Amino acid sequence: MKIIDAHMHYFNISHFKTIARKAGHTNSVKGWQKICDENNIVYAIAMGNSYDAPSRFGGVPPRLIDLGGDVSEEFDKIPDNIGYCLGVSSEDITSKNAEKTALEFEYYLKNDKKHCLGLKFYMGYNSVYLNDKRHQPLFEIAKEYKVPVAMHSGETASNRGQLKYAHPLTVDEAALEHPDVKFVICHIGNPWVQDAITVAGKNENVYIDLSGLMEGIPSKEYLAYHKDYFAHMNMWLKYANVYGKIMYGSDWPLINIPTYVDVMKKLIPVKHHEEFFYKNALKVYSRIKIPK
Ligand SMILES: [Zn+2]
Repeated sequence: MKIIDAHMHYFNISHFKTIARKAGHTNSVKGWQKICDENNIVYAIAMGNSYDAPSRFGGVPPRLIDLGGDVSEEFDKIPDNIGYCLGVSSEDITSKNAEKTALEFEYYLKNDKKHCLGLKFYMGYNSVYLNDKRHQPLFEIAKEYKVPVAMHSGETASNRGQLKYAHPLTVDEAALEHPDVKFVICHIGNPWVQDAITVAGKNENVYIDLSGLMEGIPSKEYLAYHKDYFAHMNMWLKYANVYGKIMYGSDWPLINIPTYVDVMKKLIPVKHHEEFFYKNALKVYSRIKIPK
Protein backbone atom coordinates (compact mmCIF):
# COMPACT_ATOMS: atom_id res chain seq x y z
CA MET A 1 0.00 0.00 0.00
CA LYS A 2 1.28 3.44 -0.98
CA ILE A 3 1.50 5.98 1.83
CA ILE A 4 1.52 9.77 1.91
CA ASP A 5 2.82 11.18 5.18
CA ALA A 6 0.74 14.35 5.54
CA HIS A 7 2.71 15.77 8.47
CA MET A 8 6.42 15.43 9.16
CA HIS A 9 9.35 17.74 9.80
CA TYR A 10 12.40 18.15 7.66
CA PHE A 11 15.01 20.21 9.36
CA ASN A 12 18.08 19.99 11.40
CA ILE A 13 17.94 21.10 15.01
CA SER A 14 19.88 19.40 17.77
CA HIS A 15 16.75 18.62 19.77
CA PHE A 16 15.44 16.57 16.80
CA LYS A 17 18.67 14.55 16.59
CA THR A 18 18.13 13.33 20.16
CA ILE A 19 14.44 12.66 19.66
CA ALA A 20 15.11 10.80 16.41
CA ARG A 21 17.65 8.57 18.12
CA LYS A 22 15.03 7.67 20.74
CA ALA A 23 12.62 6.79 17.94
CA GLY A 24 15.17 4.41 16.42
CA HIS A 25 16.46 6.36 13.42
CA THR A 26 18.56 9.35 12.40
CA ASN A 27 17.21 12.78 11.57
CA SER A 28 18.92 13.09 8.22
CA VAL A 29 18.10 13.28 4.54
CA LYS A 30 19.34 9.73 4.00
CA GLY A 31 17.55 8.52 7.12
CA TRP A 32 14.25 9.81 5.80
CA GLN A 33 14.68 8.43 2.28
CA LYS A 34 15.53 5.00 3.73
CA ILE A 35 12.32 5.07 5.77
CA CYS A 36 10.35 6.00 2.63
CA ASP A 37 11.82 3.08 0.70
CA GLU A 38 11.21 0.60 3.49
CA ASN A 39 7.63 1.69 4.18
CA ASN A 40 6.39 2.57 0.71
CA ILE A 41 6.01 6.25 1.61
CA VAL A 42 5.72 7.90 -1.78
CA TYR A 43 5.36 11.49 -0.60
CA ALA A 44 5.60 13.56 2.58
CA ILE A 45 4.57 17.03 3.70
CA ALA A 46 7.11 18.93 5.77
CA MET A 47 5.49 21.35 8.19
CA GLY A 48 7.04 24.81 8.60
CA ASN A 49 10.76 24.45 8.20
CA SER A 50 12.64 26.80 10.50
CA TYR A 51 15.57 28.67 9.09
CA ASP A 52 16.61 32.24 9.44
CA ALA A 53 13.90 34.31 7.85
CA PRO A 54 11.71 37.28 8.58
CA SER A 55 10.20 36.49 11.96
CA ARG A 56 6.68 36.34 10.59
CA PHE A 57 7.61 33.07 8.96
CA GLY A 58 7.42 30.27 11.46
CA GLY A 59 9.96 28.84 9.07
CA VAL A 60 10.80 28.99 5.41
CA PRO A 61 11.57 26.37 2.86
CA PRO A 62 15.31 26.06 2.72
CA ARG A 63 17.28 27.69 -0.06
CA LEU A 64 14.33 28.73 -2.17
CA ILE A 65 15.18 32.30 -1.63
CA ASP A 66 18.40 33.76 -0.33
CA LEU A 67 17.41 35.27 2.96
CA GLY A 68 20.88 35.18 4.43
CA GLY A 69 21.85 33.53 7.66
CA ASP A 70 22.83 29.97 8.33
CA VAL A 71 21.07 27.29 6.42
CA SER A 72 21.55 23.65 7.22
CA GLU A 73 23.65 22.05 4.52
CA GLU A 74 22.06 18.71 5.16
CA PHE A 75 18.45 19.69 4.51
CA ASP A 76 19.09 22.47 2.04
CA LYS A 77 17.30 20.99 -0.96
CA ILE A 78 13.81 19.62 -1.08
CA PRO A 79 13.57 16.37 -3.04
CA ASP A 80 10.70 15.55 -5.39
CA ASN A 81 8.96 13.38 -2.83
CA ILE A 82 8.59 16.17 -0.27
CA GLY A 83 6.36 19.23 -0.23
CA TYR A 84 6.00 21.78 2.53
CA CYS A 85 3.60 24.08 4.32
CA LEU A 86 4.94 27.54 5.11
CA GLY A 87 5.02 28.16 8.85
CA VAL A 88 3.23 31.24 10.15
CA SER A 89 4.52 32.99 13.25
CA SER A 90 1.27 34.68 14.28
CA GLU A 91 2.60 36.69 17.20
CA ASP A 92 4.93 38.57 14.84
CA ILE A 93 2.11 39.58 12.52
CA THR A 94 0.45 42.92 13.26
CA SER A 95 -2.31 44.90 11.61
CA LYS A 96 0.50 46.98 10.04
CA ASN A 97 2.50 44.14 8.51
CA ALA A 98 -0.32 41.66 7.79
CA GLU A 99 -0.70 42.60 4.11
CA LYS A 100 3.07 42.65 3.54
CA THR A 101 3.35 39.28 5.26
CA ALA A 102 0.76 37.80 2.92
CA LEU A 103 2.77 39.09 -0.07
CA GLU A 104 5.90 37.42 1.29
CA PHE A 105 4.08 34.14 1.71
CA GLU A 106 2.53 34.50 -1.71
CA TYR A 107 6.02 34.58 -3.20
CA TYR A 108 6.42 30.88 -2.40
CA LEU A 109 2.92 29.86 -3.44
CA LYS A 110 3.45 31.59 -6.77
CA ASN A 111 7.04 30.60 -7.48
CA ASP A 112 7.32 27.16 -5.97
CA LYS A 113 4.17 25.41 -7.11
CA LYS A 114 6.01 22.12 -7.09
CA HIS A 115 6.74 22.06 -3.37
CA CYS A 116 4.74 24.76 -1.62
CA LEU A 117 1.49 23.04 -0.64
CA GLY A 118 -0.13 25.16 2.06
CA LEU A 119 0.19 27.23 5.23
CA LYS A 120 0.81 25.97 8.76
CA PHE A 121 -0.34 27.93 11.82
CA TYR A 122 0.91 27.30 15.35
CA MET A 123 -1.98 28.01 17.65
CA GLY A 124 -1.16 27.27 21.28
CA TYR A 125 2.51 28.05 20.65
CA ASN A 126 1.29 31.48 19.57
CA SER A 127 -1.29 33.12 21.80
CA VAL A 128 -3.49 34.09 18.88
CA TYR A 129 -6.74 32.52 17.66
CA LEU A 130 -6.82 31.00 14.20
CA ASN A 131 -9.56 33.35 13.04
CA ASP A 132 -7.74 36.47 14.25
CA LYS A 133 -8.00 39.47 11.91
CA ARG A 134 -4.23 39.49 11.33
CA HIS A 135 -4.56 36.13 9.52
CA GLN A 136 -7.22 37.28 7.06
CA PRO A 137 -4.79 38.32 4.26
CA LEU A 138 -3.16 34.89 4.56
CA PHE A 139 -6.55 33.18 4.28
CA GLU A 140 -7.16 35.25 1.16
CA ILE A 141 -4.02 33.93 -0.51
CA ALA A 142 -4.85 30.38 0.62
CA LYS A 143 -8.16 30.82 -1.19
CA GLU A 144 -6.57 32.36 -4.27
CA TYR A 145 -3.95 29.64 -4.63
CA LYS A 146 -6.33 26.87 -3.52
CA VAL A 147 -4.06 25.58 -0.78
CA PRO A 148 -5.10 24.41 2.69
CA VAL A 149 -4.49 26.01 6.06
CA ALA A 150 -3.17 23.54 8.64
CA MET A 151 -3.34 24.38 12.33
CA HIS A 152 -1.48 22.89 15.24
CA SER A 153 -4.21 21.74 17.56
CA GLY A 154 -4.30 20.25 21.05
CA GLU A 155 -1.55 19.91 23.61
CA THR A 156 1.79 21.57 22.96
CA ALA A 157 5.38 20.43 23.39
CA SER A 158 6.23 23.52 25.43
CA ASN A 159 4.42 25.73 27.92
CA ARG A 160 5.09 29.05 26.21
CA GLY A 161 1.58 29.63 24.85
CA GLN A 162 -1.97 29.08 26.06
CA LEU A 163 -3.91 25.96 25.20
CA LYS A 164 -7.22 27.74 24.63
CA TYR A 165 -5.86 28.98 21.29
CA ALA A 166 -5.10 25.42 20.20
CA HIS A 167 -8.59 24.04 20.77
CA PRO A 168 -10.08 22.43 17.67
CA LEU A 169 -13.44 24.16 18.23
CA THR A 170 -11.72 27.41 17.17
CA VAL A 171 -11.43 26.01 13.65
CA ASP A 172 -15.22 26.01 13.32
CA GLU A 173 -15.41 29.81 13.17
CA ALA A 174 -12.58 30.16 10.61
CA ALA A 175 -14.03 27.36 8.48
CA LEU A 176 -17.49 28.95 8.42
CA GLU A 177 -16.15 32.38 7.51
CA HIS A 178 -13.90 30.96 4.80
CA PRO A 179 -15.92 28.26 3.08
CA ASP A 180 -13.54 28.27 0.10
CA VAL A 181 -10.49 27.42 2.20
CA LYS A 182 -9.69 23.91 3.39
CA PHE A 183 -8.58 23.64 7.02
CA VAL A 184 -6.59 20.83 8.60
CA ILE A 185 -6.77 20.17 12.33
CA CYS A 186 -3.36 18.66 13.07
CA HIS A 187 -2.92 15.94 15.70
CA ILE A 188 -6.70 15.35 15.71
CA GLY A 189 -6.85 18.09 18.39
CA ASN A 190 -5.44 15.61 20.92
CA PRO A 191 -6.76 15.21 23.59
CA TRP A 192 -9.86 17.05 22.31
CA VAL A 193 -10.44 14.30 19.81
CA GLN A 194 -14.23 14.36 19.83
CA ASP A 195 -14.25 18.15 19.30
CA ALA A 196 -11.89 17.86 16.32
CA ILE A 197 -13.98 15.08 14.80
CA THR A 198 -17.19 17.02 15.39
CA VAL A 199 -15.81 20.15 13.68
CA ALA A 200 -14.62 18.07 10.69
CA GLY A 201 -17.93 16.21 10.55
CA LYS A 202 -19.88 19.46 10.51
CA ASN A 203 -17.80 21.50 8.06
CA GLU A 204 -17.22 20.28 4.55
CA ASN A 205 -13.94 22.20 4.39
CA VAL A 206 -12.34 20.81 7.56
CA TYR A 207 -9.98 17.83 7.63
CA ILE A 208 -7.84 16.14 10.25
CA ASP A 209 -4.37 14.65 10.45
CA LEU A 210 -3.49 12.00 12.98
CA SER A 211 0.17 12.88 13.41
CA GLY A 212 2.25 12.90 16.56
CA LEU A 213 0.09 10.86 18.91
CA MET A 214 2.95 8.86 20.45
CA GLU A 215 6.64 9.69 20.59
CA GLY A 216 9.51 7.28 20.22
CA ILE A 217 9.06 3.52 20.00
CA PRO A 218 6.13 2.40 22.10
CA SER A 219 6.55 -0.88 23.96
CA LYS A 220 3.86 -3.56 23.98
CA GLU A 221 3.11 -2.58 27.58
CA TYR A 222 2.71 1.07 26.57
CA LEU A 223 0.27 0.17 23.82
CA ALA A 224 -1.67 -2.15 26.13
CA TYR A 225 -1.82 0.58 28.78
CA HIS A 226 -3.19 3.07 26.23
CA LYS A 227 -5.68 0.80 24.53
CA ASP A 228 -8.60 2.79 25.96
CA TYR A 229 -7.14 5.92 24.40
CA PHE A 230 -7.30 4.40 20.92
CA ALA A 231 -10.70 2.82 21.63
CA HIS A 232 -12.01 6.28 22.49
CA MET A 233 -10.69 7.72 19.24
CA ASN A 234 -12.06 4.77 17.31
CA MET A 235 -15.50 5.28 18.83
CA TRP A 236 -15.69 8.94 17.77
CA LEU A 237 -14.33 8.26 14.27
CA LYS A 238 -17.03 5.64 13.80
CA TYR A 239 -19.70 7.83 15.36
CA ALA A 240 -19.07 10.72 12.96
CA ASN A 241 -17.99 8.48 10.06
CA VAL A 242 -15.30 10.93 8.97
CA TYR A 243 -13.03 8.42 7.24
CA GLY A 244 -13.10 10.53 4.08
CA LYS A 245 -11.58 13.45 6.01
CA ILE A 246 -8.73 12.01 8.05
CA MET A 247 -5.12 11.67 6.95
CA TYR A 248 -2.16 9.66 8.05
CA GLY A 249 0.67 11.85 9.30
CA SER A 250 3.60 10.94 11.50
CA ASP A 251 5.38 13.97 13.00
CA TRP A 252 8.69 12.31 12.10
CA PRO A 253 11.42 12.49 13.39
CA LEU A 254 9.54 12.37 16.69
CA ILE A 255 8.00 8.99 16.07
CA ASN A 256 9.04 5.59 14.79
CA ILE A 257 7.43 5.13 11.37
CA PRO A 258 6.89 1.33 11.07
CA THR A 259 5.37 1.16 14.57
CA TYR A 260 3.15 4.17 13.95
CA VAL A 261 1.91 2.81 10.63
CA ASP A 262 1.06 -0.47 12.39
CA VAL A 263 -0.89 1.26 15.15
CA MET A 264 -2.80 3.32 12.58
CA LYS A 265 -3.56 0.23 10.49
CA LYS A 266 -5.23 -1.27 13.54
CA LEU A 267 -7.11 1.91 14.40
CA ILE A 268 -8.56 2.58 10.93
CA PRO A 269 -10.86 -0.07 9.40
CA VAL A 270 -9.17 -1.87 6.47
CA LYS A 271 -11.77 -0.68 3.98
CA HIS A 272 -10.70 2.92 4.69
CA HIS A 273 -6.94 2.37 4.54
CA GLU A 274 -6.48 3.67 1.02
CA GLU A 275 -8.36 6.88 1.82
CA PHE A 276 -6.59 7.37 5.13
CA PHE A 277 -3.04 6.55 4.07
CA TYR A 278 -3.15 8.02 0.57
CA LYS A 279 -6.21 9.42 -1.17
CA ASN A 280 -7.45 11.95 1.38
CA ALA A 281 -4.10 13.76 1.40
CA LEU A 282 -4.31 14.20 -2.38
CA LYS A 283 -7.77 15.67 -1.94
CA VAL A 284 -6.67 18.18 0.70
CA TYR A 285 -3.17 19.10 -0.49
CA SER A 286 -4.13 19.32 -4.12
CA ARG A 287 -0.67 20.47 -5.26
CA ILE A 288 0.93 17.13 -4.36
CA LYS A 289 2.65 15.53 -7.32
CA ILE A 290 3.81 12.00 -6.64
CA PRO A 291 7.16 11.46 -8.40
CA LYS A 292 7.09 8.65 -10.96
ZN1 LIG B 1 4.41 18.51 13.76
